[in-house]
Amino acid sequence: MPRTIVKTRAIVLRTMRMGETSRLVTFYTQEHGKLKVTAKGARKPKSKFGAALDLMTEVQAVCYVKETRDLQTLTECALLVPPPDLAQSLERLSFGSAACELVDRLTIEGEPNIRLYQCLTGVLYGLAEVDQNQVEPLFWYYQLRVAEALGYRPELRHCISCGNEFIGPWLWFSAALGGGVCVACGQGNGVRMARQSLNFLAGLQSLKTYRKDALPQAPPRRGEIRAALRGFLEYHGGERSRLRSLEFLDSLSRTEPAATV
Ligand SMILES: [Zn+2]
Repeated sequence: MPRTIVKTRAIVLRTMRMGETSRLVTFYTQEHGKLKVTAKGARKPKSKFGAALDLMTEVQAVCYVKETRDLQTLTECALLVPPPDLAQSLERLSFGSAACELVDRLTIEGEPNIRLYQCLTGVLYGLAEVDQNQVEPLFWYYQLRVAEALGYRPELRHCISCGNEFIGPWLWFSAALGGGVCVACGQGNGVRMARQSLNFLAGLQSLKTYRKDALPQAPPRRGEIRAALRGFLEYHGGERSRLRSLEFLDSLSRTEPAATV
């Protein structure tokens, strides 16, 4: 079977050592979705790939692709733009890492999704520029956009069961039903949360594109929003969407419990 040459924009999701001098690189590409390649000689001191294989970097990659193979060959890789400066804080770096991990875990190779690609580049560069108290809301916005790009948008404005607007300070959020549930429809349907927290998420969901000046600051009840979004993605994406990068963040200095009320 003939080989084809693929030239595409790509984000470096993950790299692993391979043999003495090479790397196994997982890209999320603009035109071909997830793509795994070998970068021969990438760990040699004067490798032609240089810093272009650093995690979370957006590059122009040229690969030889043979459809019968799982692993393709990277021939050229160059930085397209300066990489996002996430090293300024451990939290930004960890959310950037979680953003890449989420795409890696929720996608299979060879299925392009341009919206997902745009979500990922948007969040990585956004994380470098938002204010400190916008960092987590940006990640929540990204989780909502990823869910939408993969075809499971949560309902946040009306009760998913009866269609009514929410009344009163409390409601339920059900990953299985796919959104908010009013008090009348169901005690025990998912996790209990404050209406203001769901309203916050609904506000994020209504932002058409990411803009720093439109992004709200983190609200007081972060734990229940965090739990609702993770639960939703884990329910729809399966165990594979449980993110190690977020577990690492949890182990840092977060004092607020991640549980609900
Ligand atoms: Zn209802």
